[in-house]
Amino acid sequence: MIFFIRIRDIYTLFHIIYIMINEIKKSDKDWKEKLTPDQYMVLRGKGTEKPFTGELLNNKKKGIYLCAACGNELFTSETKFDSGSGWPSFNDAINKENIIEKNDNSFGMKRIEVICKKCGGHLGHLFDDGPLPTRKRYCINSLSLKFKNK
Ligand SMILES: [Zn+2]
Repeated sequence: MIFFIRIRDIYTLFHIIYIMINEIKKSDKDWKEKLTPDQYMVLRGKGTEKPFTGELLNNKKKGIYLCAACGNELFTSETKFDSGSGWPSFNDAINKENIIEKNDNSFGMKRIEVICKKCGGHLGHLFDDGPLPTRKRYCINSLSLKFKNK
C-alpha cells in the first residue's frame, strides 16, 4: 500500500514539474523578447555582469532603482554606496516585501541570492560586509536595474 502511494506521489510530483516547465518555457520566450541578451543572461539566467562594466555603477543621481524586467521598486539612491566591488551596492532594500533573499550554494559558495519578488528575476547577492547601520551589502548587477530620477 505504502509502495503504491509513493508511486502516485512521484507521478503527481512529475506532473507538477511538467506543468512548471511548460509555464517557464512560455514566459521564457516573452522574456527573451523583452530583455536584451545581456539582461536576459543576468535576470533569467542568474548570470553576473563583468565587474566595473555596469552603466549604473557610478550613478550618483538621486532617485529610485527599479527592476529592469518588471519595474518593481528595489533600492533608493540614499542607500547606494561605493563598495569597490565593481557592482552597484546598496546597504538596504527599499522594502523587504519587494525582494526575496534566498540561500544560494552554487559554485561551492554560501551566498544569499537577491531576487525580484514581482517577476522572479535574479538581481545579485547579499553579503554581511556593508557599512553601518545595516552592515548589509546588496551587490546588484547594473543590468538588472533601471534608474528613475527623483
Ligand atoms: Zn522584477
